[in-house]
Amino acid sequence: MEKTLILVKPDGVQRCLAGKIISRLERRGLKIIALKMLQMDRALAERHYAVHTDKPFFNDLVKFITSGPIIAAVLEGEKAIESTRQTMGATDPKKAAPGTIRADLGIDMEHNLIHGSDSPENAQKEISLFFKPEELLNYTRDIDRWLTGS
Ligand code: UDP
Ligand code: MG
Repeated sequence: MEKTLILVKPDGVQRCLAGKIISRLERRGLKIIALKMLQMDRALAERHYAVHTDKPFFNDLVKFITSGPIIAAVLEGEKAIESTRQTMGATDPKKAAPGTIRADLGIDMEHNLIHGSDSPENAQKEISLFFKPEELLNYTRDIDRWLTGS
């Protein structure tokens, strides 16, 4: 079982596509184990996108990701990282494969609706930027507890 972080970017929330986007990932067999809505501040955005600090698009990226509310979620499943990245499609919606979120619903490189972690190391780092360990559902533990009412 693997965990990954996704963000429904401000364009996804603003265009009322959050449910549709998350639903596509659930249909792939990924389980939501944490979820919140927030507006990222510059500091969080700079940490989240730290690998891109020196890229020419960095400033616009930070400006856009902080421009409105986003939805952050942790998804769990077998090969969750790869499975999510596949369902998202390529970064540029124009180059993304048909049937992917970005190809079907995205507009351009900036307005590409969704972020997904790209490696186990980054997933762990990114999850910890948005969630405390106790905010993640532990299916085996928590569902047993609910079913037995203990
Ligand atoms: N991005 C951009 N211009 C580029 C490359 C990336 O605006 O030339 C934005 C795009 O929104 C992308 C984000 O920066 O989602 C992070 O880039 P990355 O290469 O990590 O793509 P992703 O992992 O999101 O597919
Ligand atoms: Mg990336």
